[in-house]
Amino acid sequence: MRVLLVGGGGREHALALGLAGDPAVEALVAAPGNPGIAAVAQLREVTPTDPAAVAALAVEVAADLVVVGPEAPLVAGVADAVRAKGIAVFGPSAEAARLEGSKTFAKDVMTAAAVPTARAYTCEDAAAVARALDEFGAPYVVKDDGLAAGKGVVVTDDRAAAERHAAECGRVVIEEYLSGPEVSLFVVTDGEAAVPLLPAQDFKRVGDGDTGPNTGGMGAYAPLPWAPPNLVDDVMRDVVHPTLAELRRRGTPFAGLLYVGLAITPSGPRVIEFNARFGDPETQVVLALLETPLGGLLHAAATGTLGAHPPLRWRDGAAVTVVVAADGYPAGPRTGDVITGADRAGVIHAGTRRDADGTLRSAGGRVLCGTATGPDLAAARDAAYELVRDVELAGSHHRTDIAAAAVDGRITIPG
Ligand code: AMP
Repeated sequence: MRVLLVGGGGREHALALGLAGDPAVEALVAAPGNPGIAAVAQLREVTPTDPAAVAALAVEVAADLVVVGPEAPLVAGVADAVRAKGIAVFGPSAEAARLEGSKTFAKDVMTAAAVPTARAYTCEDAAAVARALDEFGAPYVVKDDGLAAGKGVVVTDDRAAAERHAAECGRVVIEEYLSGPEVSLFVVTDGEAAVPLLPAQDFKRVGDGDTGPNTGGMGAYAPLPWAPPNLVDDVMRDVVHPTLAELRRRGTPFAGLLYVGLAITPSGPRVIEFNARFGDPETQVVLALLETPLGGLLHAAATGTLGAHPPLRWRDGAAVTVVVAADGYPAGPRTGDVITGADRAGVIHAGTRRDADGTLRSAGGRVLCGTATGPDLAAARDAAYELVRDVELAGSHHRTDIAAAAVDGRITIPG
């Protein structure tokens, strides 16, 4: 199988490692890729959000499968353009990707499918914003309606800050605050059959102890030792299958990766958000534990044959990833700094570029992820931090408490 992987961040580096490790994948091309991905794939230039350009490249490289990593190309219709060329693609249509591209659309689908989620209002002016904030009270949850790379959400006790964010975004979804630990559940689906991967947890806030602004994600671990034993079955029954059925009913079946972001509240799991693609950085830890060949799994989802795919196999133990972020991230990341210590197994490249002379430099807010597995969570965590310690990047920062609460048994479900 010849595979074209679209994207160039940490998630795509993790996907590339998984695809390259599948004996059925005879050629892997990544576009645009990154210097880490270059070790396992041929790189090609492309604008990932240009559907015609991606489809043409898929034809040119004779791809049997195109895997779309990020959300923006999906929302732009890249999967549709590739499918129109008769090439299998892992990733939903633009219509189905609205599950991520529009928070209002996602809420509408959830309501129709009776999926448990926070009560919410879509607001377009200051008066509607004020009414919604009054009704729900603090903490206030204000979400940009469109794509915002994980940074469009403000959760705050500060009423003025909530109103400011709403005014800056224009159209927002304001919703009830959900309390409880968060879970990311990835589900591979062909629109009908659905296969859950291991639940993971990520760390959205920039600072230790969940302080500071939201980011794209500062670290992750899997599996979740504290998760209720029937969590995945419950979420498949109450969230995933009703959502997939509702999208089929609308004539826009969702095939690809359905990312379910949940809060485990006292009254059970509630959906915080859907995404239409693998999460970053949770992908780094989930795929580090997946033993089943990745290419075959994604190809089955892309060709409507997932129902016949054998059950997934997982490695024992745990995985942890720690993101190294650039100086100034998330507000204003500085790029162009020299990086050393990054060219080693376990270091996932997220925002890097290489000069002609081979020097590696930062090229984004989240620059690298130290990803490690171990016989248990504590061992995986220690190994991930060891990788991070060896990376040198001026002004960089990382959280020091990734997986710490889970290792120490401090995560409880309120009740
Ligand atoms: P989202 O982009 O919707 O995942 O939101 C980013 C982060 O904001 C989530 O991971 C949560 O930590 C937080 N968040 C979003 N919605 C809520 C909510 N209704 N209640 C509590 N926290 C939320």
